[in-house]
Amino acid sequence: MKKIYLDNAATTPLRPEVIEEMMLVLQENYGNPSSTHSFGRSAKTILETSRKSISKVLGCAAQELIFTSNATEATNWILKSAVRDLKIERIITSKIEHHATLYTVKYLQKQFGIEVDFVKILPNGAIDISHLVQLLGKGSKTIVTLMHVNNEIGTVLDIEKVGRICHQHNALFHCDTVQSIGKTEFNLHELPVDFIVASAHKFHGPKGAGFAYVKKGILLQPLFYGGEQEKGLRAGTEAVHQIAGMAKALELCYQDLESERFYISDLKMYCQQQLQLNFPDIKINGEDTFYNILNVLLPFSEEKTAMILFNLDMKGIAVSRGSACQSGSVKPSHVLAEIVPEEDLKKPSLRISFSHYNTKEEIDALIDGLKGI
Ligand code: PLP
Repeated sequence: MKKIYLDNAATTPLRPEVIEEMMLVLQENYGNPSSTHSFGRSAKTILETSRKSISKVLGCAAQELIFTSNATEATNWILKSAVRDLKIERIITSKIEHHATLYTVKYLQKQFGIEVDFVKILPNGAIDISHLVQLLGKGSKTIVTLMHVNNEIGTVLDIEKVGRICHQHNALFHCDTVQSIGKTEFNLHELPVDFIVASAHKFHGPKGAGFAYVKKGILLQPLFYGGEQEKGLRAGTEAVHQIAGMAKALELCYQDLESERFYISDLKMYCQQQLQLNFPDIKINGEDTFYNILNVLLPFSEEKTAMILFNLDMKGIAVSRGSACQSGSVKPSHVLAEIVPEEDLKKPSLRISFSHYNTKEEIDALIDGLKGI
């Protein structure tokens, strides 16, 4: 059975060139980058070349990038240090953020008693910018944390506009760019953001590697203590092969960005058209969504909700649901809960997310699979 992977917002397959690059480093550059002998020095060179390569495609200084194990770690670090070391008193966020953000904010609220405000979400899934402006009108020292592309519904934040508003109100701006890094252009020299985060496995790189971008001049303190790696900001021997793989993956994403974006956008449009043709009562969750994520509310009965993913999985088709199934019970997604009417929440939603490795034949197979349910 040929398997079909349409869950690229969860993670992406590695590009062959990335595997090649990582294998080479694993075999030939196993030195510890902190060692001063030639083995260590060549590992260090790979580390710094990777940093330079990433900074070049994102338009920032290499020193502004700190390697981490993933975006969750980077977000935890930034938000915790913002409260503990930069003396932030209030966090503005939204209820449709990833749990990496939401649960960190919840912890900081409980542990440090900081104020938390949630920006309203519009019915189309967008952030209510006028509400953000209203919230920023209050005086306390604030960090705003809002994601660029929502991982469940694909809605897109105007980072430039939001960043400008934050800075006009003297607030720091942290943006979770996990779903957009490698998929859209960034020029961090010009973008009014203070922090962004990324995970390599979302852009055809390896799991276990990510980074934080921290704008020059912002002095965070480490999340944990140990060696002097990453200027002492992220102790622990660096995963050199993962980092080299991450840099290679990002380089390739930006090398082929235009053609891949065009190809993926076309696939998404085809998928949406086919779904609407075959299931006329289908609803799309979110408006003006990113080119690789399609979230739909299927016109199936509630009883079918639990069966859909299972049935598709039996046919070798991997998609994800806008709701998490926990021990047999269907728990509505915290994102959809903000935008989907109550009566529709228990109905099955599907998140279909594409990469350049997908084809129209695979989408036809998905439609056939859904028709068989
Ligand atoms: N933020 C967003 C928007 C995500 O989609 C994810 C992963 O699904 C994360 C953060 C966390 O990424 P990781 O699990 O790689 O740390």
